[in-house]
Order: sequence, then C-alpha cells, then structure tokens
Amino acid sequence: MSREAFIPRVITAVLLLACAAPLTAAVDYANVVIADAHVHLLDFLQNGDHLENGEIVEKVPGAALPSGQRGKRIEAVLWAMDRANVSHALISGMPFLKKWSEDDPVRPGYYLDATSRVVLARDTDYHVALAIEDFKREGGETARIQLKRLYPCVSGFDSTDLGAVDMIAKRMKEFPGVFKCIGEVMSRHDDLTNLTTGERPRANHPALLRIFDFAGEQRIPVSIRHNIAPVSPGDKPKKPLYLAELLDAFNEFPDTTFIWCHAGISRRILVRDLIGHLDRVLADHQNHVIIDLSWVVYPSYILQDLDGWSALIRRYPNNFVIGSDAVGRFGDYPDQIRIYDVLFDALGDLDLIEKLASQNFLRIMPDNGVSLDMDYHYPEKKYSRQPITPP
Ligand SMILES: [Zn+2]
Repeated sequence: MSREAFIPRVITAVLLLACAAPLTAAVDYANVVIADAHVHLLDFLQNGDHLENGEIVEKVPGAALPSGQRGKRIEAVLWAMDRANVSHALISGMPFLKKWSEDDPVRPGYYLDATSRVVLARDTDYHVALAIEDFKREGGETARIQLKRLYPCVSGFDSTDLGAVDMIAKRMKEFPGVFKCIGEVMSRHDDLTNLTTGERPRANHPALLRIFDFAGEQRIPVSIRHNIAPVSPGDKPKKPLYLAELLDAFNEFPDTTFIWCHAGISRRILVRDLIGHLDRVLADHQNHVIIDLSWVVYPSYILQDLDGWSALIRRYPNNFVIGSDAVGRFGDYPDQIRIYDVLFDALGDLDLIEKLASQNFLRIMPDNGVSLDMDYHYPEKKYSRQPITPP
C-alpha cells in the first residue's frame, strides 16, 4: 500500500475508534462461542470489579475484599463471560501501578491519564491467586469445574531482571496448579514503558530469554506485548525497528508458544505492510507463534483492510486468536468482546471462524496449572554472564 493510501486509512481508523465502527455484519454471530485470549482481572490501580448478589460492584480506589471473599472477583469475570457466550479466558493481573503524583490535580486511573510514573506491581499475581484460592475454597466441586475455564498468568515481574524467572517460579510454588501461563509480558510498550524508570525491556533481553526458556520447559505459553515499531509522532509510517528483537526470541525458543499481543500494534504505530510482516513471521514460526487481534489493531488495521486480513487468516488458520483486553471492568464486557462479527463475516467459513474464535486458543493452553517441586531452581548460568567454568 502506498503511503498516500495508507495515511487516510489510519486517520479513518482513529475516527472509527472515536465513534464506534459503523461497519455491521450481515449475520449475527452471537451463537459462536469465544475464548478470550486477553483479560486483565485488575486495572492500573490494582482494582477490579467483583460480584455481589448477582450484581457487578464497580471497582473504586481503596476498595478491598477480605480474606475468604476475594473469589467474588472470579465470580465477576465468569458472570461476564456467561453473558457474552465466552467459554474460556486468559486472565492476568496488571504488572504496573499508576502512581498519583502530588502535581496531579485528579487521581489518574489509566496510565495515560497523567504524566506520573508507573511502578511495578509485584503484588498483582497474589491478587489473582488469592481470588482463585478463595473461589475454590468457597465453591467446592462446582468451582473446580468453573476454574477449568480460566487460564491465570503470572505477570508481576521486572522484565529486565535476570532474577524475574525465580519470582515466577516462587509464585508457582506458593500456588501449585494455579498458574497456566506467563504474561502479559510488557516489552516495547511505547507510552506505558516510557512511564517506567530505569532499564527498558525488549524481547531479546537475557531476563526474558530465561523466562521464555522456563516457559518452554514447563510447556506453558507466554503472552507478550512487544510493539513492532516506535510510535509515529505525525502521520509518517515507521520501519518495524523492534521486530528483529522479537524474532531473536522466536528463533531461540522454537518449543515455547508465544501469543503476540495486538499483532505488535499500539496507538500511533504506523507501519506499512503489517500483513506482509506478519506473513513472514508466521511462515517461519507458525508452529509456536499465535497472533492476538485484540485492542487497537482491530479498528485501525483489520477493519480497514478486511480482505487482506481475511486472506492472511486463511493462510494461517491456526495462528490467530481474539480478545477483549478488558481491564478490571466487567459490567459492559459483552460490548468489549463481541466486536468481531465484521471479521467473522469477512471470513465466511464457519470452521475458520470457530478456529479464530476459540479453538486456536484452546489448542495452545494447558489443561492444568504448573506445579513445581519445592527444590526447583532455574539454572543460574543460563543466559547470564556467569562463567560456565568457575574461576
Ligand atoms: Zn493487555
């Protein structure tokens, strides 16, 4: 696509985002079961909706659920999934906390609400695990069956810390059988990583290589957020400068399953021929890389070129998943996840639609959570600078 043709499409996409996509599907796909590959139980203040007497109680700063009742957060997400015909979901906490700085006149809730920093939320996985433990304890056998629908991930670690893999292993030892995946790993996330301090993550950082290696060893997938390019301050497309880092990781770990969030797109990321880039990635990595089509890539790229994306999905029918990217808010969840009818329409073929909607996701997710031996320890020397032979 020429630059001239590209830019109006992107601008159109921004307008679409602002006033809800005017495209409508010819067929109602409400009966198509979805598996949501991208849900956050918590928001950037580590708050999340919960369910009370069958009604959603909206998250507010400072609210907490006492021990024994934290499972109400799990009830909320399951309640929302039932209303949207969603059978399964990947759930993570939120690895960052948005600070309320003294110069912010109003408390920021979203990371873009103010210029205040975001800091690592190392407690986020505890919120997820404790909610699951309470839900299990209070709900008995029914709860155990319901929990088969959820795939909790570990996410609250520093992606530049070579010791992060040990923290992940620790969480898995503390909550055996709870965690079934790792992510959303935050790597190359423009506005969000810009608000952190210190070293910035990248997909081929040794700290992440250790984690990807561990994930392959444990046969659990990694969901990673890694933009394909820097943001475009104006309307000039950028080269896919960050793709090579991700390919390093994909090449190094052919036995690790990766879910690449949002197809590498974020707000203000303009690249030419995204379909071509994804095609080339999947040509080499279709056995272990899955592309998540949630969030802004859907209105800003996919809805702008339904024929091109449909052709790509047809070429790699086993490599795409969809998601809501819900962030701790579940009252309007059906509106967040049932947005893919137009794409379903373009695909036409029900077998293909079902693969995209749920089967691809279910194929890659493990049935059971990881249980590690208490004496498990990830090797110190792998992907670190420690000499193999001690001096
Ligand atoms: Zn996300």
